[in-house]
Amino acid sequence: NALLSVTDLHASVEEKTILKGLNLTVNEGEVHAIMGPNGAGKSTLGYVLSGREGYEVNSGSAKLGEADLLDLDPEERAREGLFLAFQYPVEIPGVSNLEFLKAAVDAQREARGEEPLSSKDFLKQAREACKQVNLPADFLKRGVNEGFSGGEKKRNEIMQMLLLQPKLCILDESDSGLDIDALQVVAEGVNSQRDGKRSFVVVTHYQRLLDFIKPDFVHVLADGQIVKSGDASLALELEAQGYAWLQEQRARDA
Ligand code: ADP
Ligand code: MG
Ligand code: MG
Repeated sequence: NALLSVTDLHASVEEKTILKGLNLTVNEGEVHAIMGPNGAGKSTLGYVLSGREGYEVNSGSAKLGEADLLDLDPEERAREGLFLAFQYPVEIPGVSNLEFLKAAVDAQREARGEEPLSSKDFLKQAREACKQVNLPADFLKRGVNEGFSGGEKKRNEIMQMLLLQPKLCILDESDSGLDIDALQVVAEGVNSQRDGKRSFVVVTHYQRLLDFIKPDFVHVLADGQIVKSGDASLALELEAQGYAWLQEQRARDA
């Protein structure tokens, strides 16, 4: 069953066309890795799917299940079960992590026709999630991303994912300079949430991350399109050979 269907997507930022006919289908339960040269449009894809301001869709479609993502505002997309872990998470001073997370979880429950969790039950879940990602429980009292180190932001992001239980998680790890511990947190977070239904799109430069998260498919995004798809072995090939051979191959085929 297709969970995410992106069809011939064209999108631009500041009048500059970035995505140039991108196609991607992610079925329920699958993990897809997206690799590719810098500036290819990987982060743009995540932002376009999440509805970030300033990213304009020129044509094409993107569906999450039956929902037409591009018709929804960002909050509605999240309620439909889309989760984007930002490469550079925003700080929201004055709002505690706990408040922020509870509001997000309650909104999703409401969308499913469920009552909000009691503060007590939510606190219990949140503490459990902290433990899972190795964050001290007093983290929940701090402002959202306020003064977090890179590793803490990453753990916090994965904690959000654990609590929100999204249908589709997009993780953008390209330029975040993760140390091996943070890499492990990301990988364990993803692996613990793989249940045959939830799907993941993991953007990464690090083949190393894919040693821990075994992707079902690997795609190369270059110049705004998916130019090659394969299984996990493609990531090893890219690590060994870079991206130039792909561009040569494409030039020959054109
Ligand atoms: P990747 O994640 O694959 O490295 P990005 O999606 O971040 O690539 O960027 C794709 C292209 O879009 C780059 O050329 C980048 O400079 C450009 N771009 C991204 N965001 C903006 C922006 N806000 N304004 C202008 N250009 C942008
Ligand atoms: Mg980049
Ligand atoms: Mg990027």
